[in-house]
Amino acid sequence: MVAEFACAQCHTPFLNDAPLRPNGLCALCRSGIAMYQAVYSYGFYEGPLRQLVHLFKYQGISALSEPLGQLLVAALPRGERFDVIVPLPLHWWRRYRRGFNQAALLAKAVSRATGWPVRPLLRRVKNTPAQAGLTRSARRRNVAGAFRAADAEQLRGKRVLLIDDVLTTGATAAAATAALRRAGAARVAVLTLARVDRRQPALALQTNAVAQLAARGVGA
Ligand SMILES: [Zn+2]
Repeated sequence: MVAEFACAQCHTPFLNDAPLRPNGLCALCRSGIAMYQAVYSYGFYEGPLRQLVHLFKYQGISALSEPLGQLLVAALPRGERFDVIVPLPLHWWRRYRRGFNQAALLAKAVSRATGWPVRPLLRRVKNTPAQAGLTRSARRRNVAGAFRAADAEQLRGKRVLLIDDVLTTGATAAAATAALRRAGAARVAVLTLARVDRRQPALALQTNAVAQLAARGVGA
């Protein structure tokens, strides 16, 4: 990802360095709301990468998990090590409707490449409405308390790699990270295939609208 200015912690890109003053951190990371220590993404949620994610997630082409997993591994900085990979869970109802959890398939692919074990240690305890189209603060309210860690014993003091397909505002990842940290995780890094480029609000909204239609099964 090419960005002239990015948060030193979550790597959110910005048009200039004003939001990053004085210490190089964005407002979310300065406030501690984000909870996670780093975010890594292969690229922006646009072009071919967006099309691949749509084919994988909404058209159910699960065989894509292997090559997409390789993109995830490529997005990790060399030298990063984790004790456990945790996929972002879907609520059971959405998982049932879709037939699979895209994050779990990606997590397995990353595990095969790295040798780090996958543990489904998060549970989605609230079926939150789709995040698409909501503002940042509405997203945060929407997902607050949506996750619970399943087994604190396996998380205490551990370096956790949290995997999902797309990062938009980071509200969902932050809520999931909060649950992992409450259970004692020492460090949580978020790894996604794509992240929405929020430097272009109009494009992001468009992307959300397309995702919403695709989620309802209207085109892709
Ligand atoms: Zn940040």
